Amino acid sequence: MIKGLSETVTMNNGQGIPGFGLGVFDAKGKAVYDAVRYAIDAGYRHIDTATLYGNEKEVGRAIRESGVAREEIFLTTKLWPTDFDDPQKAFDLSMRKLDCGYLDLYLLHWPGADEGRRLKAWEFVLDQVDKKNIKTAGVSNFLICHLEELKEKTGTIPANNQIEFHPWHQQRELCEYCRQQGIVVTAWGPMFHGHLNEEPLMPKIGNKYGKSAAQATLRWALQKDVVIIPKSARQERIIQNADIFDFSLSEEDMRAIDALDGKGTYSFDAMTFDGDVKAERASRK
Ligand code: NDP
Repeated sequence: MIKGLSETVTMNNGQGIPGFGLGVFDAKGKAVYDAVRYAIDAGYRHIDTATLYGNEKEVGRAIRESGVAREEIFLTTKLWPTDFDDPQKAFDLSMRKLDCGYLDLYLLHWPGADEGRRLKAWEFVLDQVDKKNIKTAGVSNFLICHLEELKEKTGTIPANNQIEFHPWHQQRELCEYCRQQGIVVTAWGPMFHGHLNEEPLMPKIGNKYGKSAAQATLRWALQKDVVIIPKSARQERIIQNADIFDFSLSEEDMRAIDALDGKGTYSFDAMTFDGDVKAERASRK
């Protein structure tokens, strides 16, 4: 478990990933620029964005203008499944918008429903590593079957799998599989993907330690040894969320939070979701 904000976890390719970062989903324009600047000022060294979030330009500018050297920042962006047919075009656009020279981590954002397109996109990402445009190739929302497929068909094991992970959705089998394979797990939605105030146990546990519900939730994930990328656009929360290295949840409290597993998920179906968010939401109604 990391003991400080910029401490790194070593991935299976030897690269380090800071165990704590800022997520920027749903933040745009000045709000995301400011958030990244607040985070870097507060000591964050890991920023997680995606083509889908529509904010790469502001994220890149905030990193460039932060005054912190590029090599000290760990920058992730992601390839959306509808771009799997022409990954070069999407990648070039991300690189142009970010304008940060290289990527530390590039993820296939979702596996997508088509094996051929997925494998083609993965080969593209590996090729960018060879070309030194990307330091590390990873995936997101991949299930065990998708990871097994990559291993069988391409002989490769991704360094990182970014998955939904919070007390209501712990994905224990998948986490255990990743651990056995040497794949670092990054938790998206670590504060219930914005539904933190719907879980009454978290403020109760936070209170015991003089900490907030958010801090207790993030500390739990930290003690589970996953990388966390909580999102906030507010300076006081960005600072508060990182203030979790001076306390430790007891085994009893860890178990009480463990028992919340299964109460809710915000993921699409990784077996069928092909990148059409509108169609997916409409089919759920
Ligand atoms: P989080 O669990 O990080 O929750 C974010 C929400 O919590 C926001 O609404 C934020 O509001 C609020 N919040 C932040 N800090 C506090 C606090 N101290 N107290 C109360 N509320 C707080 O959800 P995300 O879905 O954003 O996940 C984190 C990151 O993971 C994303 O930003 C993105 O980078 C990544 N992600 C990846 C996905 C994938 O498919 N690979 C899917 C979804 C996310 P406010 O900003 O107003 O503070």
